[in-house]
Amino acid sequence: MKLYYEQDADLGLLKGKTVAIIGYGSQGHAHALNLKESGVKVIVGLNQGNPDMKKAEAAGLTVKVNHQAAKEADIIMILVPDQIQSSVYHDDIEPNLQPGNALAFAHGFNIHYNQIIPPENIDVIMIAPKGPGHLVRRQYESGNGVPALIAIYQNATGKARELALAYAKGIGGTRAGVIETSFKEETETDLFGEQAVLCGGLSELIRAGFNTLVEAGYQPEMAYFECIHEVKLIVDLIYEGGLGGMYYSVSDTAEYGGLVKGPVIIGEQAKAGMKKLLQDIQDGSFATEWILENKANGPKFNRYRQLLKNDPIEKIGAELRKMMSWLKK
Ligand code: NDP
Ligand code: MG
Repeated sequence: MKLYYEQDADLGLLKGKTVAIIGYGSQGHAHALNLKESGVKVIVGLNQGNPDMKKAEAAGLTVKVNHQAAKEADIIMILVPDQIQSSVYHDDIEPNLQPGNALAFAHGFNIHYNQIIPPENIDVIMIAPKGPGHLVRRQYESGNGVPALIAIYQNATGKARELALAYAKGIGGTRAGVIETSFKEETETDLFGEQAVLCGGLSELIRAGFNTLVEAGYQPEMAYFECIHEVKLIVDLIYEGGLGGMYYSVSDTAEYGGLVKGPVIIGEQAKAGMKKLLQDIQDGSFATEWILENKANGPKFNRYRQLLKNDPIEKIGAELRKMMSWLKK
């Protein structure tokens, strides 16, 4: 694996160029402000009437409607939600692309699954910080950076990699280190991680643990503390010191129980489920499902959101969190 740092990237490549940041949400505000403070000419692009226009202007940024920003820019970074990138691209960006421009992304979904098919005469690159936008901004302000990925999908100018690195430097990524990946690898591992482990797997592990205790007659409040609340303590330890660091900090009883009994829960069956998820991601089944779900206005998505809202674990949790004065509203 190759790692890129400050000395591998030349901000000079962005001199005289204009970067359009389309969207001003979590990633958009961080990219726009960090690039601007790195001396890059930035235009924020938003749809007409978007309330974020005022926010971006108040932060001292130049703001224009999408198609105007795209027209004036040499590098166009698309930071609107993944589900609407394809329509924003087709309506506002594609008609304004010039040969030699660069189209940039922070996630590969729309390129990898062919929802956006760019012309051959432009560069297509990815610069994806491995953290939420607010961390990307905060770290930059304090002189640090969040590690980032870069990927090259199309290198029309022959300078696409250098350009991606310059951009990564502009948002602070090379201060922490930049790893090169591909659109395919980033998209597939990102989807797999969120489904199997981070969002899907973890939530269901929590719910199954909570329900097992409650169904066995234990107080739901106790189940909440044991199966949800303490997840943060454990995850913080893993984040700081890996699995070994976590096991070093917990009791010997917890260490033995975890090492020996964990595989009883996450065994062959869970692994088979993960392989199925990965296959659906690799063959495009998941992408098709998600794209069609959005076209249908999310009937299944809304149903599942509603089911979670009504889940007893959420009601108990809302009550218990009132006891925790340090939690933000
Ligand atoms: P957000 O939802 O936080 O922000 C999206 C922004 O786009 C908002 O300002 C939104 O305005 C605006 N927007 C909505 N519709 C339009 C439109 N038609 N034209 C222009 N702007 C529009 O998105 P994220 O920052 O989370 O995600 C952006 C990209 O970054 C995605 O590809 C995502 O996968 C990727 N990414 C996100 C990370 C994260 O931690 N959030 C991490 C790494 C990558 P409004 O709020 O008014 O709708
Ligand atoms: Mg992700």
